[in-house]
Amino acid sequence: MASRSGGCLCGNVRYTINSEPALTVVCHCTHCQKASGSAFSTNFVVPRADVVFSGGEMSAYDDQADSGNRLSRSFCPTCGSSIMSESSGHPGVVVMKVGTLDDPSMVRPTMQIWTRSAQPWVRFAAEMVSMEKGR
Ligand SMILES: [Zn+2]
Ligand SMILES: [Zn+2]
Repeated sequence: MASRSGGCLCGNVRYTINSEPALTVVCHCTHCQKASGSAFSTNFVVPRADVVFSGGEMSAYDDQADSGNRLSRSFCPTCGSSIMSESSGHPGVVVMKVGTLDDPSMVRPTMQIWTRSAQPWVRFAAEMVSMEKGR
């Protein structure tokens, strides 16, 4: 398959992904709502070794996730775009933000997590696997 590319809003941070996303997940946790400035985050999971970054350095916020895991949330220091997170509970993989892909339509969520904190107006396709909490 063709490699997938993406980056932040201002173009400072760029990346290429050299594998298929293992999983695409919508997260309704309260921290993703804050960090994204939206009702939920949409993420895909890939091996860390398959992501090649170019351009500027990212900044990171060391977060304590609702799951109890430590979560390093990386973002562009210039424009603030959320790029990815790395969880202490899932070593070796990174969670990338779908909205930073050059073509976000390439991936489609199959699972949603932390639905217990989802906003009441959010509705998703019934075929999506739903979990009240994280994983
Ligand atoms: Zn940027
Ligand atoms: Zn979340």
